[in-house]
Amino acid sequence: MNKRQREQLEALFKALPKSEQDRLFREGAVLRAEDQKRRKGERKRYEDLDAPRASASKRKSEPVREYALKLFARERANAGRSGAGPDEQASIAGETGVAVFVGKRRCLVRPDGAPGDGSGDTECRLPADMAGRQQTELCVGDRVSFVRGGDERREADELVQVLPRKTVLTRRDARTGEARAIVANVDAVVIVVSVVSPPLHPRLIDRYLIAIEDSWVEASGSHADDPDPAQAIIAVNKTDLLEPLSPEARKQELGRLDPYRAIGLPIVECAAETGRGMDELRSLLAGKVVAFVGHSGVGKSSITNALDERLGVRTAEVGTAANRGRHTTTSSQLYEITPASGETFWVIDTPGIRFFGLEELTPAQLRDSMPELRRLRRGCKFNDCTHTHEPDCAVREAVERGEMHPARYDTYTRLLEEIARGPRPPDERIRPLPEEE
Ligand code: GDP
Ligand code: ZN
Repeated sequence: MNKRQREQLEALFKALPKSEQDRLFREGAVLRAEDQKRRKGERKRYEDLDAPRASASKRKSEPVREYALKLFARERANAGRSGAGPDEQASIAGETGVAVFVGKRRCLVRPDGAPGDGSGDTECRLPADMAGRQQTELCVGDRVSFVRGGDERREADELVQVLPRKTVLTRRDARTGEARAIVANVDAVVIVVSVVSPPLHPRLIDRYLIAIEDSWVEASGSHADDPDPAQAIIAVNKTDLLEPLSPEARKQELGRLDPYRAIGLPIVECAAETGRGMDELRSLLAGKVVAFVGHSGVGKSSITNALDERLGVRTAEVGTAANRGRHTTTSSQLYEITPASGETFWVIDTPGIRFFGLEELTPAQLRDSMPELRRLRRGCKFNDCTHTHEPDCAVREAVERGEMHPARYDTYTRLLEEIARGPRPPDERIRPLPEEE
C-alpha cells in the first residue's frame, strides 16, 4: 500500500460509525495477541514481514490500530469481490448495478442480474451536484445505486449513489492537478504494445506500470507488498510483422521484454490479425474486469474484436502524423465477452486511460510504485535510501547479484532524474488525448 492508498484507507476508516471502529479495534487486538503468540520463539530475520508495511521498518510489534486497519482493508476487499457486502446492502436505497457508460449528465447502468448484451441497461440521470463534478466522482465500472422513474414524482431513472470502490485508476488532470477517476473496479490492466508499426518502446511499459501502481487503490492492504502478477498483463501485438526476420532477430526483439518477465508479468505474444495469442489472453482474463491501455495504433480495438467477433468496435489505420493521437474510441464503455469456449470476462475500453502523466510524481511515490524496490528496501541500511549512492543499499546489491533486472534499475534512475529535471523528451511521452467527450 503506498502513501496515498494508505491515506485513503485511513480517511474511510475515520468515516466509519464509532461502533464499527470499536469492533475493528476489538478484533484487531485479538489478531495482534495471536500474532505475538505465534511469533514468540520464532527466529526470523524480519519478524514483521507479514505485517503492514507502513511500520515494517521499525521492526517492532504493530499497534492495535494497524491491525484494525488491516482488518478493515480485508473486509472491504471481500465486500467488493462478492458484489454488495452486508454493510452495503443495509444502507442502499433503490436498485444496484454497474455504470457501463458515463456521459456528462447521464450514465448507462446495467442493473445487477441484467443480461450482458445490454438489453436491460437503463439510462440514469445524474443528480445535479454530481453532474458538475462527474469526472472525479463517477466512472465506468463503478457500482452504483439508482431509482426507477416513470411516474409523476420522477420522470427518468436517477442515479443515487456511487458505492465504495475496490480499485480505481486515476489520472491527474494536467491543468488542475486533480485526480480524475478513469475506471473503477478493474481486476487487471492489459498493457498493449506492438512491434514494428508502431515499434516496440519498452520504456512506455515502465510508465504504464508506475502509473498503474501509483493510482491503483486496492482495498486489500496486501497487494503492495505481495503484488498480484495478474494485475498487469502485457500483450505484444502484431507479432506477424516479425515473420520476415530471422529467428535470432525475432528472439532479440522480443527479448527486450525480459525485464518484465523477470518481475513476473504475464507476457502474451499475439497478433489480432491472425488470432495468435487470443486463447491465451482469454484464459488470463477469464472472470475478470479488465481495461486495455496502450498507444494509439497498437491494436487495442483489434484485439478486443478478435477476442469476440460480435463486438464490432471500429478500428482504424495507423495514423499519419496529422491524425496520430486521434482515437477511434471516443467514450469509455464496458463490454461483456463470452467466448465460445471459456469463461465470461468484461473489457472496459477507455480512451482516458491511454495517457498517464508522471509530472506530479515525487521520488518517494516513484519508489512506492516499483514492486522490486518495495520488496528490497527493507534490507537497505537507511530508511530513506534513494538507492543511488548510499552504502549498504540492498537494491544496488540485488542489481549486482542479478536479482533485480538492470533495465528496471536503469528505468528507476532515469525516471528519478527526469522528476528532478522536469519535462521529459517528447519521444518518451505517452501521448495525451484530445479532450474526451
Ligand atoms: P488501437 O488504436 O490501439 O485501438 O489500434 P487498432 O485496433 O485500431 O489497430 C491499428 C491498426 O493496426 C489497424 O490498421 C489494424 O488493422 C492494425 N493491426 C491490429 N492488429 C494487428 C496485427 O496483429 N497485425 C498487423 N499486421 N496489424 C494489426
Ligand atoms: Zn537502497
